[in-house]
Amino acid sequence: MSRDVVTVIKSVNFSEADKILTVFGKYNGKFAIIAKGIRKIKSKNRGNMQTLSTSDISYYEGKGLPILTESQLIHMPEFTPRMNTDNIERILYILNKFLVEGDSNQRVFRLLQSVMTSDIDTERVNKFRVQLLKELGFLQEFDKCESCGGEDKLEFFDSNIFGLICKSCYTKSSKGVKLSSNIYRDSVFTESLDKYIKKIVDEI
Ligand SMILES: [Zn+2]
Repeated sequence: MSRDVVTVIKSVNFSEADKILTVFGKYNGKFAIIAKGIRKIKSKNRGNMQTLSTSDISYYEGKGLPILTESQLIHMPEFTPRMNTDNIERILYILNKFLVEGDSNQRVFRLLQSVMTSDIDTERVNKFRVQLLKELGFLQEFDKCESCGGEDKLEFFDSNIFGLICKSCYTKSSKGVKLSSNIYRDSVFTESLDKYIKKIVDEI
């Protein structure tokens, strides 16, 4: 019997009673697992294995997909009506597209847990996405002007190159848009991050 602490990142109905879940395991990275009987009302695992909930699980590895045997819920996010469902989709999208099957990454796992135990607002979700991209080598630090390399007055953002632009380069080229003081809350930044992520997905 194997064990892991996992967050469910995808859930697909498989037969009348079963589901195939994609989980992100703290120790075993992303993997698919079959949850037999989970669609039945009486299933003990049913409430523990909802999308984005985190549980301590036991599973059996035989031929084919591993089979979920037991689960104990650690945390389930509270989906309030105030919550922006786009943010949930953003998290699921990046996890499903970027995590590599069987590659464990405990740093990303911890980052995910801290977002899941927050109120999953745009600022946190954007920070999480940026950290994940950096962690996996798809993004450089946002600490200098993409045009001149300067570190002063990085107040503008060029969504075409997905980087910061300093005030003096902006004055010369007028490429980019002015950011608010917190870029992670900025809707321009959120949209260009969405686009940047889709672009990478198309390329990989
Ligand atoms: Zn510059």
